[in-house]
Amino acid sequence: MKKALITGISGQDGYYLSQLLLEKGYEVHGLVRRNSQLSIGNLSKLDEKIQKKIIIHWGDITDHCIVEKIIKDIKPKEMYHLAAQSFVGLSFENPRHTYNVNIDGTLNVANAVREFSPKTRVYFAATSEMFGKVQETPQNEKTPFYPRSPYGVSKLAGFWTMKNYRESYGLFMSNGILFNHESEVRGPEFVTRKICMAVANISKKKQEYLELGNMDSRRDWGHAADYVYGMWLMLQYKKPDDFVLATGENHSVRDFVERAFKEVGIDIGWEGKELNEKGFDKKTKKVLVKVNPEFFRPADVEVLKGNYSKAKKQLGWKPRITFNKLVKVMMQNELNQ
Ligand code: NDP
Ligand code: GDP
Repeated sequence: MKKALITGISGQDGYYLSQLLLEKGYEVHGLVRRNSQLSIGNLSKLDEKIQKKIIIHWGDITDHCIVEKIIKDIKPKEMYHLAAQSFVGLSFENPRHTYNVNIDGTLNVANAVREFSPKTRVYFAATSEMFGKVQETPQNEKTPFYPRSPYGVSKLAGFWTMKNYRESYGLFMSNGILFNHESEVRGPEFVTRKICMAVANISKKKQEYLELGNMDSRRDWGHAADYVYGMWLMLQYKKPDDFVLATGENHSVRDFVERAFKEVGIDIGWEGKELNEKGFDKKTKKVLVKVNPEFFRPADVEVLKGNYSKAKKQLGWKPRITFNKLVKVMMQNELNQ
């Protein structure tokens, strides 16, 4: 049986990837960091029968001893290194922690594979945040990087670590430069999930209004289920490489807000500018969206839009879930909660 090891298995992508690999007949191992509740995060939302099939190893990615031990014991055919401090906003407040987890953690993976399981094919979760202050639009694998946050810088270090180990030691290490991908199990602090949770609460009269930061920011948003399939394809490819996965479309945070409110039958109108901008229900005139400076970042990535033609041509990958469908499924999930 093919063995796969997923770090960050309790996160959003781990939830979708573990299901995909189990469906494909893999023995799935996952690294989970211990917490006082022994919570397995998003995995606890899986059917119990599926949960039981996943072999959990408790440990922190920054502990090279445990990373080495697991890789040495399992010698997985494929390893998906997803574990990270993944929230850009927090990376400004906790840059040291972000560097420790995202840079040292990735170095631990690269070293352990090199030493104890050099045949393992490794996927590294790089990110469109590495493009940051974009040097061209749309962005592809050849676009120069210009990260704008400690998170972006840390992921760039991981990206180059993988590329360097691949070129220096002939290891199969691929970087997925993934644009934002969301879902029903996206972390609640990310803007898409935050909006959907608030809109559902507002529609059920449990919340008065939604507060946001930079609404002009544009993202290329896809659905996580499509993107984990792309990760798997990268490790089936004949050689290690770097691939952009994106939808090729982008939308502003404001667009996302409007679309989410449409799902509960509310048409949003806008008035005012910058910090005074407000979104109101066109029918009742009630203010439902406000700007709060607390949610702005010291430096933001204003616009991201990916060109996934390399992944399409070489891997046969394309996104299936459109922007409107993404908002719909996320909103339906919140309304059903
Ligand atoms: P999540 O934040 O949902 O998941 C991150 C995972 O990493 C969680 O399982 C978390 O565990 C784990 N983790 C964090 N710190 C440690 C640690 N010290 N030791 C062990 N595990 C740790 O992220 P996503 O699933 O959305 O993303 C997966 C990867 O892809 C991440 O590396 C992210 O940076 C990257 N990425 C994501 C994109 C997106 O739009 N979703 C876009 C591009 C890249 P716990 O549950 O305990 O917190
Ligand atoms: P990111 O692309 O990984 O930073 O994903 P996020 O979902 O955290 O943020 C996407 C964009 O939404 C960024 O440009 C944020 O500045 C912007 N944004 C505006 N308001 C908010 C907010 O209240 N929370 C978050 N998380 N982002 C916001």
